[in-house]
Amino acid sequence: MFSPVVAKFGGTSLAEGNQFRKVQSIVSLENSRSCIVVSAPGKRFEGDTKITDLLGEIHRLKREGEGHEGLLIEIHKRYEEIHCHLNLSNDLRSEIHGVCKEIDLSSHRDFILSRGEYLNALIMAKSLGYTLVDAKDIIFFKDNGELDDHKTHKAIGKRLSKEEKVIIPGFYGADSRGSVKTFARGGSDITGALIAKGVSAACYENWTDVSGVMTADPKIEKSARTIPCLSYKDLLRITRDGAQVYHPDAIPPVESVNISIHIKNTNNPEEAGTIIGGDEKNGED
Ligand code: ADP
Ligand code: ASP
Ligand code: MG
Repeated sequence: MFSPVVAKFGGTSLAEGNQFRKVQSIVSLENSRSCIVVSAPGKRFEGDTKITDLLGEIHRLKREGEGHEGLLIEIHKRYEEIHCHLNLSNDLRSEIHGVCKEIDLSSHRDFILSRGEYLNALIMAKSLGYTLVDAKDIIFFKDNGELDDHKTHKAIGKRLSKEEKVIIPGFYGADSRGSVKTFARGGSDITGALIAKGVSAACYENWTDVSGVMTADPKIEKSARTIPCLSYKDLLRITRDGAQVYHPDAIPPVESVNISIHIKNTNNPEEAGTIIGGDEKNGED
């Protein structure tokens, strides 16, 4: 049976219109890249603010009864720039406007935070002609706040088997009452891993702004080198020690079914990056 590739694109890979173009070309290069998970727009430059942080600030201001209009306009403009750059329809412009209105009216923290990913998924789905599958219909949390693995796995298999090419917003799912609930920060990696497991992916590609897991954070250590392959165990150790490049909770879902993780650079797609697991020998010797 044909096994899809699940590709997750992080915030820096989707920070602005020209980054969306890079993602489009990576996705269209390989027909098997048929399940795409997207984060919210990250920083465009040093000192910029991630959309998720702006949304968190909106929630804080609302809670404290202060005005949030300026921030909402800033967010709206970021998505307008992406929409314009990609030359998309006026219908989509209205949908983006509608979601900003929902943010304006909501007081629910997780719903507000999740809209960064939702809007990116909406735009990416339209620009690639893929079907948008909302994460709240396939990722479920229990009453105690933990992920409902069993229900999630079943729902992903059932829903995604009906579609050929899908876009899924990362970072959130639904609680037992159907309300949006987010993972911890950086949680889009977890969404991607759950989707990879649920569709029995050939591999889980995790596209970011560096060429794989490196010997140190390249933003701090200029001489850092890419580690070509690693075991799941080593990745767990490195990420638990604080390397932000991949969320440690995104390891068990793929490790449990031996799906390899490929960490790749959206800005340098031809570089090999890092391969984790999938083969007993990876990183073991
Ligand atoms: P994304 O938005 O794609 O999820 P993140 O910002 O979460 O990306 O993770 C990528 C960042 O992780 C890199 O830009 C890099 O600065 C940082 N990082 C920290 N430690 C490492 C490491 N050991 N190897 C690679 N990147 C690292
Ligand atoms: N957008 C969320 C965050 O900034 C989730 C993610 O990027 O993985 O934490
Ligand atoms: Mg991340």
